[in-house]
Parts: sequence; C-alpha cells; structure tokens
Amino acid sequence: MARKPMMAGNWKMNNTIAEAVVLTQEISNRYEKEWPEHVDVVVCPPYVDLKPAKTVLDFDRTKIAVGAQNVYWEPSGAFTGEISVPMLKEIGCAYCIVGHSERRELFGETNEDVNRKAKALVADGIAPIVCVGESLAVRDAGTTDEYVCAQVRAAFAGMDAADAEGAVVAYEPIWAIGTGRTATPEQAEAVCAAIRATLGDLFGSAVAEEMRVLYGGSMNPGNVAMLVAQPNIDGGLVGGASLKAESFVQLIEACL
Ligand code: PEP
Repeated sequence: MARKPMMAGNWKMNNTIAEAVVLTQEISNRYEKEWPEHVDVVVCPPYVDLKPAKTVLDFDRTKIAVGAQNVYWEPSGAFTGEISVPMLKEIGCAYCIVGHSERRELFGETNEDVNRKAKALVADGIAPIVCVGESLAVRDAGTTDEYVCAQVRAAFAGMDAADAEGAVVAYEPIWAIGTGRTATPEQAEAVCAAIRATLGDLFGSAVAEEMRVLYGGSMNPGNVAMLVAQPNIDGGLVGGASLKAESFVQLIEACL
C-alpha cells in the first residue's frame, strides 16, 4: 500500500485559546471531503489550545487530527508542569511530536528522554512524530547521515515493529528551522532515504516502507511541491507556514 502523505502544523508557543479557535475554524472552513483520502492533516497547538481546537474540529466533523508538541512518559504523579499520555488521550490527540530540536536544544531533552516519550505514547495508542535533524556543524563535518540515523536508532530503542508501525519520523535540519533556508529536495531526500533504510534495519523493510518520513524546515507554499515529490518524503512538519490558514491549506493541497 502506498504511504499516505501527512501535513502536520507545529504551532509552537503561538496562539492563545481565542486565537487558536479562530485559526482552527479557518482551517476547518477550508476542509474538503477529498482530503482524508489523500492526506492526513494534523494541527499541533500548545497544550491549552488542544481541547478547544479538537472541539471545533469535532463540531465540524472535519477529519483533521490534533497532536501535542510534547509529553512526559510517566502516567501521573509528582512531576510539576508536565502533561501525561493519558491526559492527551482524553482530549483525543492522535499524535504527539517528540524530540523537536527546540526541546533538545533549549530544554536539554536527550535521546533517552525521546525514547521514553515515544514508548509511552505507542503503549497508549498515540502516534509519536519523532523529530531528528543535524546542526550546521554536523552537516559541514559531513556526518549528517550517521548523526541523524543514530538519533532514529536511539528514539526507537527497545521498540518492535508492531510498536513502530504507526510512528512518524520528521527530518528537520536545525539550520533550516525558522530560518527561511530550506534543504534542497535532493539534500532532504538523501537523509530521508537514509532514515528509511535505518527503519528497515530496525523493523524490516515492509514496516519501513509503510512508515511516514516527513521533512520540516522552512517548508512553504513555494517549495512544498518539489519536496513532497521526492520518493522518501511523505509530507511535512511545518512551523511558520502552519500559522496562517491560507498557507497551511496550500501545503495540504500540494499533497492531494
Ligand atoms: C518546525 O518547527 O518544526 C519547523 C519546521 O518550523 P519552520 O517550518 O518554521 O521552519
């Protein structure tokens, strides 16, 4: 079966509840019945916006999923400030981003943390969107594939094929995030192919062929077509261009 593309919007720390409701409604108003056949659409707002966004989408019966941007691996307890998988599940989150480079760089998230989070999510039926990607220094050193594939192996450590099946990997070169500098389609394809080969080593080629590998890093309506045309790029994880309904819808339509 061919992989269905995914277009996921990472809103980061943007949009109050009122703003999130407006943006979700604007996206929902543009929803076309043909979308779900061709593309999985996901919005990943801040925690406080998850329930309001989900309520808008449920009310409109639009098949747009809601995802979180982070999670903690313990189900409950004395972890001030954290949010658990059961809490996300209750809201109806189908996805959760883990290991975004901003979390790794600004909040000290390690490969081991990413692995714990991914395992906790799959155990409870939420699909992780596992982010990996190299810094400019790593790219300049010529070790991008080794670095990124090591991140993939670490994120999926201790998981079997059945656990990994629904998971998504997002290749996001750090030097391309929020910088307006996009990886060329060839650069992105080369790393996404290496990621898929690593997934094949871990889980077998049949599972690796089913898993989605997204590209993220200054994706926009002008460059999306060339990126998603690559054989190993199955859509995008998008920051800036997901904050306006018009540009996000253009990205979705590029996957139809
Ligand atoms: C991201 O944060 O996941 C991202 C890809 O951001 P941007 O599209 O703004 O580069």
